[in-house]
Amino acid sequence: MEPLMCPFCGGTNIIEAEESKIELDAGYWIIYHWACLDCHETFDKVVATPTGEIYEEDEHWS
Ligand SMILES: [Zn+2]
Repeated sequence: MEPLMCPFCGGTNIIEAEESKIELDAGYWIIYHWACLDCHETFDKVVATPTGEIYEEDEHWS
């Protein structure tokens, strides 16, 4: 993942925990979890990943 700063204290001593995945009709969310070693806060980042484009294939040969 990209370099991060703690949103609570601005520190960069951050460890990444195992991410979660939530499946939806229109795709899925990946939820990244981090913990700050400076202030011991935890925070998340949600990345929405639509699947529509993945299944949109060229049907030219059919
Ligand atoms: Zn912090």
